[in-house]
Amino acid sequence: VGGTPEQQERFIRRIAEEGLIVAYGVTEPEAGSNVQALKTKAERILDDKGDIIGYRLNGQKQFITNGGVAQLYTILAEAPDGPSFFIAEAGDQGLTPGRHEDKHGIRASDTCPLTLEDLIVPKENLIGGIEGQGLKQSNEVFGYTRLMVATFGLGGGMAALEKTIAYAKERVQFGSTLAEKEGYTHKLLVPNAVRLEAARAYIEEVARRLDTNEKDLQVEGSIAKYFTTEAGNAMADDAIQGLGGYGYIREYEVEKIKRDIKITTIYEGTSEIQQRLISMFRLQKTVRSKGDYYKDMAKELESLAGDTGAKELAAMIRLLNDIIFEARANKVTRSQYVTFLMADIMTWCEVGAALCKKAAGYDGKARSHEFMEAASRLFVREAAEKVYLNGLKICVGCDTEVKGLAGRLSGLNLMDIMKNNLKDMDMVSSELVR
Ligand SMILES: Cc1cc2nc3c(=O)[nH]c(=O)nc-3n(C[C@H](O)[C@H](O)[C@H](O)COP(=O)(O)OP(=O)(O)OC[C@H]3O[C@@H](n4cnc5c(N)ncnc54)[C@H](O)[C@@H]3O)c2cc1C
Repeated sequence: VGGTPEQQERFIRRIAEEGLIVAYGVTEPEAGSNVQALKTKAERILDDKGDIIGYRLNGQKQFITNGGVAQLYTILAEAPDGPSFFIAEAGDQGLTPGRHEDKHGIRASDTCPLTLEDLIVPKENLIGGIEGQGLKQSNEVFGYTRLMVATFGLGGGMAALEKTIAYAKERVQFGSTLAEKEGYTHKLLVPNAVRLEAARAYIEEVARRLDTNEKDLQVEGSIAKYFTTEAGNAMADDAIQGLGGYGYIREYEVEKIKRDIKITTIYEGTSEIQQRLISMFRLQKTVRSKGDYYKDMAKELESLAGDTGAKELAAMIRLLNDIIFEARANKVTRSQYVTFLMADIMTWCEVGAALCKKAAGYDGKARSHEFMEAASRLFVREAAEKVYLNGLKICVGCDTEVKGLAGRLSGLNLMDIMKNNLKDMDMVSSELVR
């Protein structure tokens, strides 16, 4: 991302042919979530005529994956015209990896700090060839890597779910298997399985859009990462619970999944940073499109066939538009707490839309069509809880009461939406433990 064609040819070829390991050095001790607080400096080196021939890098990087084992390093540093990425090679004088961190999870992955002391980089290794492109490039990188981390969350979550299901089918307590106890399946399995199914549908949709070269999918990457990694992490936690004392023992592996998956809610931008981005950019998009962005999403859902809860979700998405405009007009969006409540509504609605669409046209083999429709309806109910409760907190929970919202919120027909909830849980549960 961001490399000139010459740089892409030079480095990607080597990475592919020589199997090089690459590290990505952005984070610093003082610049974590706030990359702009970057302190590493790239000073120009000039020849006798005053032309740039290279850069001298000085600074400190923190938590760099593969930092101690990489052959190539992409390093973000502040150049005179702004933050810029540079490529350095292992063994370059002035590039010193520190001690491998003793971590909570992903313990087989190398993570370490890097010290840059008068590290000389030729000008040909300034990515893109122009200074000041670094933050734009790192945002573009996130468009891919956040979706990738979302898939880590999905994979870890699915593995935890499968192990819990297998255990529940075998473990007998009180004369029957755990899989036969509703308090177990409907608490520890079904809600997690539904969320993971929703996450999968959303990831597939965004991946398809990326594959057709659609640009500017950064917010979608944030939604996918935020939702999926939190869902995977919650599943892994419930997997430990679901295996009881055995879940707490290393041999049964779910505690390892829990430790490994936790990093996905932290790196490539924490969950809170994703919530910040989602609310900020979706609010902007809603205002700029005069509400059409979410109206179009609602219209598409209203046209879907089948019994997926799509029409109910469409009504919530129209309500989301009102929440955004009213909250903004009443200036409660100045509160970060409110914007995070909005980010959650946006996330659940958009992920829900992907699941409704997938369920409506589902002819896959992994699940039955009935399972997908029931999962979709269950997820729409969860979204309804988010929209209603978060909406109430925004409407009456702030110093300024957002009067225009009260009537709209009570118009959300929760009584109808919750009908047949248990029946759908029974359906999903029976297919999970079959
Ligand atoms: C195992 C591992 C591997 C990593 N690999 C890499 C790598 O290869 N390359 C790389 O460059 N970095 C890497 N990182 C760094 C990682 O991306 C950062 O740790 C992460 O972005 C968070 O930064 P921080 O640790 O400084 O936390 P902080 O930014 O200090 O955040 C601490 C807490 O405050 C919250 N917070 C921060 N700002 C806000 C805000 N504005 N509003 C609300 N809450 C906020 C955060 O969500 C978090 O909960 C890695 C980290 C780890 C642990």
